[in-house]
Amino acid sequence: MSYKNYPMVSRVIFGRGSFNQLGDIIAPKRRNIKAPFIFLVDDVFKGNSWLTSRIPLAYQDKLIYVPTEEEPKTSQVDKLTEEIILSFNERPSGIIGVGGGTTMDLAKAVSIMLTNDGSAKDYQGWDLVKNPAIYHVGIPTISGTGAEVSRTTVLTGPERKLGINSDYTPFDQVILDPELTKDVPKEQWFFTGMDCYIHCIESLNGTFLNAFSKSYGEKALELCLEIFLENSLTAEEAQDKLMMASWHGGMSIAYSQVGVAHAMSYGLGYLLGTKHGIGNCIVFDHLEEYYPEGVKIFKDMKAKHDIELPQGLCADLSDAEFDIMIDVALSLEPLWENAIGKNWKKKVTREKLKSLYSKM
Ligand code: NAD
Ligand code: ZN
Repeated sequence: MSYKNYPMVSRVIFGRGSFNQLGDIIAPKRRNIKAPFIFLVDDVFKGNSWLTSRIPLAYQDKLIYVPTEEEPKTSQVDKLTEEIILSFNERPSGIIGVGGGTTMDLAKAVSIMLTNDGSAKDYQGWDLVKNPAIYHVGIPTISGTGAEVSRTTVLTGPERKLGINSDYTPFDQVILDPELTKDVPKEQWFFTGMDCYIHCIESLNGTFLNAFSKSYGEKALELCLEIFLENSLTAEEAQDKLMMASWHGGMSIAYSQVGVAHAMSYGLGYLLGTKHGIGNCIVFDHLEEYYPEGVKIFKDMKAKHDIELPQGLCADLSDAEFDIMIDVALSLEPLWENAIGKNWKKKVTREKLKSLYSKM
């Protein structure tokens, strides 16, 4: 048995208003005045001076707004990387991602591609990255994915939706300022928050679970139950706690794995472009068989917050389209092995997945 040796985020700052320290934090990392910091910022903040006026631009630093209607693609990473290389004579001093999982994953991927040849699609998989990334900072503005703490960046490529999982992927610095999440719309808050809840359920009910994962997973789950089911928290407390739940949920899956909901949600995402948070919810809603207790509580949370999930997503799909989703889902072998056990291939059939997808 050989145990995994995990890299972690090397520095993290937590607190309401800690975003104001960004300039001081990155200043020592500036290599010279011609090596800019590139800020990749979720375009929802365009024109929002409350946030953008606090981005410490100096010298030739550049702010690039990134669209988030769609999840990041390898082609988008390649384009951004090329744009940055062509705009400056020097390699940047660092990449700073300000936004949700989409923006943070883009920042991670671009920081890797600035020091590695070829296309981002060449690095989708496990431990394919050869050279260390440039300095990269993650600043979440919505909580739940755990992208701020994970060793992956999930990308849709021409052939698959798969992460760049590597020791160079985690951020060098994370700024956890829960105040940045104050304007997240309710539905999005729920969907991305449920990503965290589902990480906990899939990790805690998986065969890969160990004491390390369990300790983080239990804490994150306890926080999720408090945030999504109780009435006692102020808005600020709920923001603070969800940011920490996201962190702990990410730490929990670092040493275990996600499970059935994520595997099937990747299928929906690849074929239909369904986004990660809502896709996980759509799938999880039908997984009583695998996670009875977790799904029951999920339905309570959904009812409490008046959330309606889209129905009939797969109603008009052809057999060929079902096959594409099933292929994507089944290709994520570690997720199934975690969820079901070593002999999962005997238990999870294509017919089973088709019947589940048909309900969505
Ligand atoms: P997101 O980043 O796509 O953002 C969702 C929406 O919320 C967007 O419209 C965005 O503009 C908006 N938003 C974000 N912050 C806001 C704020 N403060 N105020 C108002 N609106 C705000 O969503 P997400 O759920 O955070 O991330 C999903 C992505 O993360 C997917 O691409 C998924 O694959 C990836 N992911 C990555 C990991 C990882 O470990 N790397 C883990 C889980 C998910
Ligand atoms: Zn997830």
